[in-house]
Amino acid sequence: MNIAIILAGGKGSRMGMVDEPKQFIDIYGKPIVVHTIEAFDIHEQIDAIAVVCLKEWHEDIKIWTRKYELNKVKWIVDGGETRQESVFNGLKAIEEDVSPEDIVVIHDSARPLISHRIIVNNIEGAKKYGAVDTVIKASDTIIKSTDDETISSIPVRKELYIGQTPQSFVYSTIYDAHKTAEASKLQDSTDDCRLVLNCGKKVHLVDGDKLNFKITTMEDLLLLKSIVKMSKLERI
Ligand code: C5P
Repeated sequence: MNIAIILAGGKGSRMGMVDEPKQFIDIYGKPIVVHTIEAFDIHEQIDAIAVVCLKEWHEDIKIWTRKYELNKVKWIVDGGETRQESVFNGLKAIEEDVSPEDIVVIHDSARPLISHRIIVNNIEGAKKYGAVDTVIKASDTIIKSTDDETISSIPVRKELYIGQTPQSFVYSTIYDAHKTAEASKLQDSTDDCRLVLNCGKKVHLVDGDKLNFKITTMEDLLLLKSIVKMSKLERI
């Protein structure tokens, strides 16, 4: 079985004038999180979906799953204080219904333009290697600064990638990695692959896509709106 865990537990918005968390902002009649869930709901290789979000949004998610016929949503799970805690809550919520060898595809709700191909490659990669991360090659030089004022180092660009999501795993691999992180008091990893690496396991790379960007700023929102509008016009 292949299960998607959609993370919508973030509280903040770095968009200035917008109050609600970014994943609930409406884009042409549908909240961003619904656009994201839909990409997984219509995917023939996804069997079930868990949505992780704060309790105050559970009722909205239930209403949207009915309204938009998101029939694969089987669990609505409480978000945690950190992204790491939200993922662990998701993993624990599905524990009784999955087998250790099932695949979990963990995706940010704030990346609604996830493609069919990326989901396929994640599932195939996780089956083959046990753990995969979606990345794109860095096209800009990445500058490291530890004091926010001067350059500490400039890593070699051809070895650098930008991490996206999904990050996909065999269930037992990611569950054990979260258990190990909990035992060693690692609490705020922004990334699940780090937890798997900490267990001494390899994580393979899957090609991401520039369009699979994360909605973080107002500029991202404007870009998303124009892409959705253009793709609607092209279908007419
Ligand atoms: O904050 P950031 O943009 O890195 O969040 C990435 C994803 O993780 C978002 O989809 C957000 O809703 C989710 N998240 C979560 N629980 C948290 C923090 C973030 O599910 N406590």
